Amino acid sequence: MPMGNILKNKKILLVEDSRLTQLVISDLLRKNGYETETAFTGEEAVQKISGGIPPDLVLMDIELAGKMDGIDAARIILKSWDIPVVFLTANTSGEIIEKIKEVKAYGFVLKNTDKAALLSTVEMAVKLHEANAHARMFERLFENSLNELYIFHPKSLKFVAVNRVARKNLGYTIEELNTMTPLDLKPEFDLESFQKLLNPLVSGEQEQVLFNTVHRRKDGTLYPVEINLQLFDYGGEKLCLASVVDLTERRAMEEENRRKDEMLRLMLEGIPSPAWLVSKEHRILAQNKAAASLFGTKVGDYCWERVLGGEYLSDEYREALEKNGSPLLGTKCYFCRGDEALDKNAPINSEVEFAGGIWDTWWIPLGEDIYLHYATDVTRYKKMEEELRQLSVTDSLTNVYNRRYFVQKLEEEIERAKRAGSKFSLVMLDIDRFKSINDRFGHNAGDLVLKSMAEMIKNRIRKIDTLARWGGEEFVMLLPETTVNKAVVLVEELRESLSQMDIPGVGRVTASFGVVGYCPGDTIDTLMQRVDALMYEAKAAGRNCVRYSDKCE
Ligand code: GH3
Ligand code: MG
Ligand code: MG
Repeated sequence: MPMGNILKNKKILLVEDSRLTQLVISDLLRKNGYETETAFTGEEAVQKISGGIPPDLVLMDIELAGKMDGIDAARIILKSWDIPVVFLTANTSGEIIEKIKEVKAYGFVLKNTDKAALLSTVEMAVKLHEANAHARMFERLFENSLNELYIFHPKSLKFVAVNRVARKNLGYTIEELNTMTPLDLKPEFDLESFQKLLNPLVSGEQEQVLFNTVHRRKDGTLYPVEINLQLFDYGGEKLCLASVVDLTERRAMEEENRRKDEMLRLMLEGIPSPAWLVSKEHRILAQNKAAASLFGTKVGDYCWERVLGGEYLSDEYREALEKNGSPLLGTKCYFCRGDEALDKNAPINSEVEFAGGIWDTWWIPLGEDIYLHYATDVTRYKKMEEELRQLSVTDSLTNVYNRRYFVQKLEEEIERAKRAGSKFSLVMLDIDRFKSINDRFGHNAGDLVLKSMAEMIKNRIRKIDTLARWGGEEFVMLLPETTVNKAVVLVEELRESLSQMDIPGVGRVTASFGVVGYCPGDTIDTLMQRVDALMYEAKAAGRNCVRYSDKCE
């Protein structure tokens, strides 16, 4: 305890109108380790106390010169300060003793008494005052504690004291509690069970007993409590101190957390595709059933430990992981999109292939360091999208590309040629006397000719070459990285093959070809005009032949 003050530095204010007595007593006190200060009158004493550091004790003569006597002076001092006053008196008449009692003094000493009696009275007064101050301090601590505190007798169980928060929470007054015991507050206990609880304390087996129960208020309502019981000595007997924490708020918070967890769980389950709550460290905090069944992930896993991340670790990320045993935030990997989302505090979307499908995935930041990750299986839509795209670029009769796609492809190739200086050739062909084929064998036969020819050419050209139906019985070909001379070799071969091909119900057909190469400055129009002109030259030259130009102006 920090309060074990030693007497030596105590300061005593001696109020005495006789200089001689002042000198004698001051000398005695100083010799015995007290500091002293003196005043001749009551007025001077009050003035000294209000002006400086208040003394630890006032030794006050009763009969003083001046308007105020010692009793009046003491009254004034005690009104404003908590300082023990001991009177000095030559007179012990009944009247004087009554007055002394009235002002709550710490006793009196007879003037001219022996030194030992004076010193011991002063010392006892100082000690008693100190003890009172201690007691008041603990009383305040007890009364003002935020925990409910109860002191009761471990045998009779009668309450000795119950502090303010406890009284307020229970709704009982001090008077009511004076006749009560803990059993009146604890519906879950009877005398026997409560005494059984106290036994280990009483026998000294245990220093404290901790338990949870409920308290019943005066109005009958109940509240959950956590109780700590301890025994302590008080004036030779044992008393029991119960420190009680009202758990209502804690329970409410726990309930609130449970509710939030449940909401989160419902929310995750409500997402109709695999969904995870993921920490900044990529640890799975929660997940739904779809996530568990489709990806086999578990709460507590790190994402990359599973198929989900494992397949998508970048080399850089994998290396960092192997070296450090933990993820390096900021390295590029599939799951780092989550970090990106957190950094930007905005959802991030990407499409990835895993678990044999195509997934549309989202990372949605949910605060400082958690994001919601979910993946929607879009394999079916992607397939449909691809089919639609194919349809939109394909000629339905011949199954080769259509004019729209060819123009786009040609545009790209012109750009590439401009940028990279690459070469390419462009071919146009037109079936000879096709009108008469239709006329002689019918429109279906004509269609078959178109299909057969397209099929034949498609099988002969490279993957990077593009064959398209330009319209009617006209076809075009784009041959990247191919000089005109090389293109002509291929085209001659195609022309020959076509003319040898026997088409069921039609027989032989031929076609006329034009071939040109890209020249700097060419546009789609200039290229198409040149190749068209050459193809017509071939027609004019008698058909079933190739006309080309490998010159640029
Ligand atoms: P040339 O040797 O001068 O090219 O003579 P041609 O008869 O081939 O030329 P023309 O342009 O006069 O005739 C083309 C014909 O192609 C006219 C049209 O009926 C036919 N045709 C266009 N598209 C189709 C089609 O999709 N199917 C069929 N069966 N015929 C088509
Ligand atoms: Mg034609
Ligand atoms: Mg024709």
